[in-house]
Amino acid sequence: MKKWIHKLLLLDLLAGLRVTFRQQRPSNIATEQYPEERPEVAERYRGAPRLNINPDTGDTMCIACDLCAIACPEKLILVGSERDPQTKHKVLTTFTYDLSRCMFCGLCEDACPVDALELTQDFELASYSREGLIWDRQMLEEGPRPLTYEH
Ligand code: SF4
Ligand code: SF4
Repeated sequence: MKKWIHKLLLLDLLAGLRVTFRQQRPSNIATEQYPEERPEVAERYRGAPRLNINPDTGDTMCIACDLCAIACPEKLILVGSERDPQTKHKVLTTFTYDLSRCMFCGLCEDACPVDALELTQDFELASYSREGLIWDRQMLEEGPRPLTYEH
C-alpha cells in the first residue's frame, strides 16, 4: 500500500528533484570551470618539453651532446650540431622533438647533463595536426602559447 502511495504521489521523483535542485547552488558546483579556472597539476607532472636558455646571456644551455636523443626509447629527439672551428666545441644548430610519440617518461631530461632539457608543467599540448606536434628549437625555447579565452 505504501508503495502505491509513493507511486501515485510521485514521491520518489520529488525526492530526486530535491537532490537535483539542492546541487544547483554555485557553492555546490564540483566541476572545474576550465579554462577560466586553471587546474593545479601534480608537482611531479611531466608536460611540455622546454629547451632552457641561459637567462644572463640568452644562449642555449644545450651543449648538443645528444644524450637525450640516445636515452629516448622512442628515438623522437633529433639534435643537430656543428663544430666551432675556433673552440672545437659542438654548437647546437637544430633541435626537433616529436611530441606525438612522446610518453613523457622523463628519461631524456634525466639524461641531460646540463639541465637544458626539461619537461614542464604546461599541459595544453593539443594540436589540429600531427605536424603541429613536432616542435622545433624555437618552439622548445619559447614554449607553447596557450590561448586565452574570452566571453
Ligand atoms: S619523455 Fe621519454 S619518450 Fe618523451 S622524449 Fe623524453 S625520453 Fe623520449
Ligand atoms: S642531453 Fe641536454 S645538452 Fe645534451 S643534447 Fe640533449 S638537451 Fe642538449
